[in-house]
Order: sequence, then C-alpha cells, then structure tokens
Amino acid sequence: MDKVVNPRSVLHALQPLGLGSAQVESLLSYFCRLAASHSTSTVSLSREVARRFEHDVEEQFDWFQRQISGIGDSALTWSSALSALTSIPMLDRLTFLPWRNVIAQSGFPIVSKGQFCPHCLAEDRVNGGTPYFRLAWESKAVTVCHTHHVRLEQHCPCCYKDNVRHAAALVVPGWCTKCGAFLGRDVSQASTDHAIEPVELWRARQMHEMLRVQQQFAHNPRRSALVDAIQHIIAEMDGGQGTRFAKRVGISKGTVHYWLQSNKLPTLEISMQVASQSGIGVVQLLTGDTAHWKPPSQEPQLTLFKAQDRKRGPQREIDWNEVEQQLKTYLHQPNPMPVREVSKQLDIETRFLYLKCNQTARQIGQRWLTHQKHRRQVRLAKAMPYLEAAGRDVLKEGKALNLREVTTRVPAEVLSGVQGLYEVLRDVKSRVGHPSAAASNDCTESPKPGLAR
Ligand SMILES: [Zn+2]
Ligand SMILES: [Zn+2]
Repeated sequence: MDKVVNPRSVLHALQPLGLGSAQVESLLSYFCRLAASHSTSTVSLSREVARRFEHDVEEQFDWFQRQISGIGDSALTWSSALSALTSIPMLDRLTFLPWRNVIAQSGFPIVSKGQFCPHCLAEDRVNGGTPYFRLAWESKAVTVCHTHHVRLEQHCPCCYKDNVRHAAALVVPGWCTKCGAFLGRDVSQASTDHAIEPVELWRARQMHEMLRVQQQFAHNPRRSALVDAIQHIIAEMDGGQGTRFAKRVGISKGTVHYWLQSNKLPTLEISMQVASQSGIGVVQLLTGDTAHWKPPSQEPQLTLFKAQDRKRGPQREIDWNEVEQQLKTYLHQPNPMPVREVSKQLDIETRFLYLKCNQTARQIGQRWLTHQKHRRQVRLAKAMPYLEAAGRDVLKEGKALNLREVTTRVPAEVLSGVQGLYEVLRDVKSRVGHPSAAASNDCTESPKPGLAR
C-alpha cells in the first residue's frame, strides 16, 4: 500500500504534444516518450504502472498488445494511471475515450501494427520538434494522412520490416525499433504506393474533425443526443420508417431498432456509413448536432462503403523472361532489397519468384542478408564505445550492468540501432571486466578486444 501513498517516484510531468488540435499525440506515443524521458524501457515502465495500479492492471502482459489509446477499459485505466503518476490532467484526450458514450466499445477498431505518416514525422523533426505518433494513426478507420494525402505506412524504409513503430522494449518515436533508421521522409520523396481512394480521404477528414472537437469538449457526447439525431434523420429522409432507412444505409433493419430501443451503440463504421449516406458529418451525427443539416437533394453515392475489393485484378499473363531481367536489375542496384519487397514492387508473389526465377531470387535474398548482417555490425561498432564507457561507469559505481543502467547513460538513438541488446550487454560485461578482476591480478582474464582508443 505504501507504493500508492509514497510520492517519491512520481513520473515526470511530460507535456503531451499536439494537445488542443487534431494532431494530438496518442497515449501510446506519450507512454513511449515518458519511458524514454525516464531512461527506462517501455517494459519496465509498464510494470511500474501495473505495480502501482495492481488492482486494475495485471502484471503479466505485453503492454503494446493493450489498446491504451482506444475507447475501452485499457484506455481508461492507462490514461487515469498516467494522469495520476505524471500530474498531467485529462490524458484521456490522448485516447478515443471522449466518444465512449456514443460508439460501441467493441466497434472502434485500433490498428494492431503501428502505422505512421513519414512526412508528419519528418516535419516534426525539421520544425525542431519531437517526432510523435498521432492519435489519428491508431484508428483502423484511418488509412491516409489528412494533412499530406498519402497512405499511412507500416514498414521501415530501411530494413523493410513491419511493426517497427513501437512494439519493442526500447522505443524512440520516429525511429525503427528493428534497425534504428528514421521512419520519416521528406515530402519530395514520393511513395511507391497505389492511388488513394476518395473514401479514404473522407474517413481521414471525419476522424480529423472528431479529434479536433474532442479537444474542446466541455462535456463528452451523450447517447441520447445521438439517438435523437438518428431519429431526426430517419424522419426527414424516410418518413420515420426505420426499415427503409436501414436499407438505404446498407444495414440490417434490426440494427436500427436495436439502437433506438435498447441501450446499444452503433460501431464507428456504421456511424460513418449513416453519415456518408445522409450527408451529415460524423461529428454532427455523434454529438447530435442536426441544426444545420438538410436531407441530401440527390441520392448519395451508395458505392462509398461497398466492401472494397482489395484483391488483385484479373489474372494477367506474366512474361517470366522479362521478370528475370527485372530481378537482375534489382540484384545489381546499389541498395540491396529483400525478396518480399521486390515481390511487392513487381506485384508478383514471392513464392512464384522463387519457383520461376529461382537462382536470381535466391541471390537477391542472400545479398540482402549479407547487407543486413553488415549493417548490424556497423551499428554495433558505432554503439560499442558508448556501451563500454557506460559499462565501466556502472561497474565503477558497483552496480549491476543492466538495461536500466545502460539506458540512462547511452543515447536512445544509439541504443535503438543495437539488436539483441541483452546478448550485447553480456559481451560488454566481459569486455570491461569487473573492477575486482583488475585488482586480483588474474592473468586468466580474457583479453579485452577493441579497447585501444
Ligand atoms: Zn502526414
Ligand atoms: Zn528498420
């Protein structure tokens, strides 16, 4: 119990970024920066939160599996826990919680792999700010950047791996958690992505508006206002007939009845559908603001929310000789690339590349592996002087050489480039030795490579 009362280790009062605007930081981003500002790992900080709020948060979990920026109980627990520990009020504004009374908790999907806009991250840095993850990026409904009109990305531009944004013990928002490369990119560097659908921009705009207004809420939207708005729309557009309205927006007739008669809530997806079909904004719908809404004079585009066919187009003839030539070009280009990335760019499955152009595909793969290994060595060599200096420091102070001690002494950007940090620390320990080893004149102590500087 003392741990709750004792104010000794309250966390830094770190200011959230983008507060008050639609560019607001996500709680997940805030949490990562908080860990970094305490020179600790996200894992240790999540344990600390769990320890202090043990009745609410279980200890055995991967923090990044939790939807801490979402609309459910994890978001509630974590935003209040971090508000309590940092003394920064209203951290629920870094989550989607303000919409909790009008969107079903199970109906607000959060992305499982962190997505990001490379241009937003690059601009943060150019403007002298701290790169951070926007709350908008956490919603599955958002696939493009409202500001830059580009598709959000999941892959590192350098090592091409995905899930590189935050699922790691050591996170510096904006840098790849696998290879340490910066995830941002200047707007002049175009992406290779496919065209963006108008519906994607529409969704991003709706979310942008939601985040903008939620920063100013005096009271969070209420369910009764939403129900009134839906009833108003049904009355104006379909003469009060729920069945006709349900058909119009492409949902089952039972669903509409369900919202109006029981205390169930629509999912975000369905509210977006209702908004797009009636021409009201999602914010106006959810907040019950129908004062300026008029029923659309012409039929809205019913195709807007038809399930999108993301499958590849009709079967095409592939000229394998030509593919072979293209693969040779990839093989000899200055920057090595993994086969899966080549496959993506050629729009041909990896398996077929190995089947039809086996030798060249394997050469591309091998070249990539060698390149990766080399890069790891270079990064490690760069980090080693820092790690050794930190190791000597820690041992001189008579402490144990562990991740926590090292992160307080080595810049996070240097550390984030090191793979297998625990292994590496063991190596560092044997390199710098123990102070008592020097005193004991033990000649069997292994030589210390690479120490001459
Ligand atoms: Zn952007
Ligand atoms: Zn990377």
